[in-house]
Amino acid sequence: MPLDDASARLADVREKIARAARIAGREPTDVELIAVSKMHDAAAIRPLIDAGQRVFGENRVQEAAAKWPELRETTSGIALHLVGQLQSNKAEEAVVLFDAIHSVDRPSLVDALARAMDKTGRRPTCFVQVNIGDEPQKGGCAVTDLPVLLAGARAADLPVAGLMCVPPLEIEPAPYFALLAKLARDSGVTGLSMGMSSDYETAVTIGATHVRLGTILFGERA
Ligand SMILES: *Cc1c(COP(=O)(O)O)cnc(C)c1O
Repeated sequence: MPLDDASARLADVREKIARAARIAGREPTDVELIAVSKMHDAAAIRPLIDAGQRVFGENRVQEAAAKWPELRETTSGIALHLVGQLQSNKAEEAVVLFDAIHSVDRPSLVDALARAMDKTGRRPTCFVQVNIGDEPQKGGCAVTDLPVLLAGARAADLPVAGLMCVPPLEIEPAPYFALLAKLARDSGVTGLSMGMSSDYETAVTIGATHVRLGTILFGERA
């Protein structure tokens, strides 16, 4: 993707985020845009960096570990967010590599992350992922398990910033976003990681603080 193209896509998305935020009486700067670069190589990522984007998301630890150290060497201020499921045995690697982890979804992972943070001294921001549509194939804790999981994460001293969800495909997502927002209010957390390429404007009007955008910035994945 040429730089002009990357700049144009980024500007367009930022404008749409700003518009959605204003509709909801929010500040555009209260919404963090995470450019999800999974399955895209350094050559595809570089133009977005050159266009000013600094916050990126990946869904696999191995893939991020292969791509990002080199990109980070040449650009300061990169923040990396893990948006995909995390195996407990990769917790330490994830804590070293990522600045935020959006997929905390079970007590064993809370324990593994707490140990990894103690050992490495790194403390990435955490989001508790909720399986908001109660879909068997999806990550995230059950809505009913959220209070106990969150209490465990707080007891383990994880820096929990908020909640994350991926709503069911091909259904109006707004009710799911609204439910996540209510769960966050009830739980006393303010971060809301919700909204992808097809639904981020809706998510922003409902309170998203972090939108995770891949396709709309990079084009279709192979
Ligand atoms: C891939 C992915 C995204 C980005 O999806 P797009 O539809 O390409 O914007 C966002 N969140 C998660 C958890 C993902 O895995």
